[in-house]
Amino acid sequence: MSPFPRQDYRALTRYHFDRTPVALDLSDNTNQWGAHPAALEVLRTAGDDALARYPDLYADELRAAVSRRLGVPEACVTTGCGSDDVLDSAYRSAAGAADFVAVATPTFSMALPLARMNGMEARATPWRAALDDPTRLLAGGPALVYVCRPNNPTGEVADTAWVEALLDAAGDDGPLVLLDEAYVDFGGDTFAGRATAHPRLVVSRTMSKAFGLAGLRVGYAVAHPDTTLEVEKSRGPYKVARLAARAAAAALDDQAGWVTRTVEACVVNRSRVEGALAQRGLDLVPSRANFVLFRAPGGEAIADARALRARGVAVRPFPGDMPDGSDALRVTVAPWPLMERFLEALDAHLASPGVTG
Ligand code: PMP
Repeated sequence: MSPFPRQDYRALTRYHFDRTPVALDLSDNTNQWGAHPAALEVLRTAGDDALARYPDLYADELRAAVSRRLGVPEACVTTGCGSDDVLDSAYRSAAGAADFVAVATPTFSMALPLARMNGMEARATPWRAALDDPTRLLAGGPALVYVCRPNNPTGEVADTAWVEALLDAAGDDGPLVLLDEAYVDFGGDTFAGRATAHPRLVVSRTMSKAFGLAGLRVGYAVAHPDTTLEVEKSRGPYKVARLAARAAAAALDDQAGWVTRTVEACVVNRSRVEGALAQRGLDLVPSRANFVLFRAPGGEAIADARALRARGVAVRPFPGDMPDGSDALRVTVAPWPLMERFLEALDAHLASPGVTG
């Protein structure tokens, strides 16, 4: 008899959070200014060849666009069906069943499950302890270290010197260091250039946030050509749909347009909403991303998020994830009229926490 599912899958669940329709969804850090217009134009004018034929094996058109945008060689770029897929491939290329992945937590909710999905052990190091001393992430000899920068859900950016210290301690033949730069367009310096010359550094990026293309599912990573090749072997062919690759490439080629404008607007509104939360006496973690983590107003993240949802606004609950261990909510930054709707719902909830709207 063959046992099914495999033993280490029994504790896994499907990814789940409340996605029931709501008037205003500020829960998933997607671009609240919409989709990149150059990508929309590609989709509008697509012809038969975009669908009837297979795409490039390894999305060469998209790799070329990333290369132009970031000024890195094409041989240093790998792509995938969302950066989830790129992370998944990177994990698999570095670690196997006997290995473990070190993750600074709280962080992106897929960082730990991705290890378990691939049959590896995942070990969490508290984010604050890791910030004090990056070598804590190397304890016990992980095969891969995952760090999110800016970090989701806290919005913090580990110092450049911190990353350098981690890379120094990991060495040229140590674990693969995976820097997730999904939110780097909103704050922080990129390590993409550095990754092209380092044998053990992979920098992943997504088109789902600043470029407004979450529905297309396109992500990429930058690494040394040899490392890139290993990640691509693990990924397999045909992962990026032809239309998605073309649309993402068009958006990447828009050097000084829509992304710059909407990121600037987002950064302005991020400060405004941080001010508004502070005014209401709610502690927050100063953010460099397109979201803000703040203390759950009623002290219980799940109940607070449910109450705000009943008032028409979805935010994401993070129990215990404030720096002092109290419950937190994360709100995605949006155009100001939408932030006003969020603040109105928050005020109504603060005024009568037991009552739902
Ligand atoms: N990394 C981080 C830090 C994220 O927050 C997300 C999405 N929320 C992803 C990766 C995955 O993005 P995608 O698969 O849409 O590229």
